[in-house]
Amino acid sequence: IRASGKVRYTNEGKPALIIGVSFDITDHKNLQQQKDDFISIASHELKTPVTSIKAYTQVLERMLKQKGDEREAAMIAKMDAQVNRLTSLIGDLLDVTKINSGKLQFNDRVFAFNELVAEVIEELQRTTEKHVLINNVNYTGTVHADRDRIAQVITNLISNAIKYSPLPGNIIVSSISTENEVQLCVQDFGVGIPADKQELVFEQFYRVSGDKQHTFPGLGLGLYISSEILKRENGRIWVNSVEGKGSTFCFALPASPVTQA
Ligand code: ADP
Repeated sequence: IRASGKVRYTNEGKPALIIGVSFDITDHKNLQQQKDDFISIASHELKTPVTSIKAYTQVLERMLKQKGDEREAAMIAKMDAQVNRLTSLIGDLLDVTKINSGKLQFNDRVFAFNELVAEVIEELQRTTEKHVLINNVNYTGTVHADRDRIAQVITNLISNAIKYSPLPGNIIVSSISTENEVQLCVQDFGVGIPADKQELVFEQFYRVSGDKQHTFPGLGLGLYISSEILKRENGRIWVNSVEGKGSTFCFALPASPVTQA
């Protein structure tokens, strides 16, 4: 039951009138639970066959390369890339069910922030002809957080910058550090986000609708997951964007500026 109400008092301060409303939200909660359960079961069930397809495509690609069948090997490599996309979509759905049930695990440790940024950029640069330019990522301190989860956040922001910008679509990654935090910003010159939608993009399943935005594939989960990860790591995430001009997504994490020798 969700209830709210107001009390009117007499001049002597005694309650004279109580007005209240109560809603039975049991149905709403059940529906929410059913939705969460469905996403959880479906994503678990999808994971097994996709993992198996992934293993076979890799074996096939290797076999074809060994035989010198370059054209067929290239086709299998494309298939493998699509399987990776599927794996990542299923991974996002699984993460959401874990977030909703409070079961997203974190394994925090100390790591060099810059090295992680460089690693992620290198990996993503291999998947796109757009240029991911590194500008001023020269922070030498460390961060205490879950390295894989922070990699996931950086990957989300750069992948979005790539996805939502037309060619040539340069992307600029830069960082600023203060005494106790490090900030990383990813700037693109793509479609941008209307001002009234900028807060909403961090919500679960939210996707900006409109002519320019609807053609891009996605589930609307990456930024929600990223903001939940940053919440758990005592960080924050925000966006500055101008529709039609581009967006800059930034996040901040608590950090120690001095690296141990
Ligand atoms: P997805 O990209 O899968 O839809 P996200 O949670 O990553 O999900 O992003 C939510 C929405 O925010 C996107 O659907 C898109 O409308 C908008 N968005 C995110 N990043 C950008 C960007 N760099 N440029 C323009 N729009 C963006």
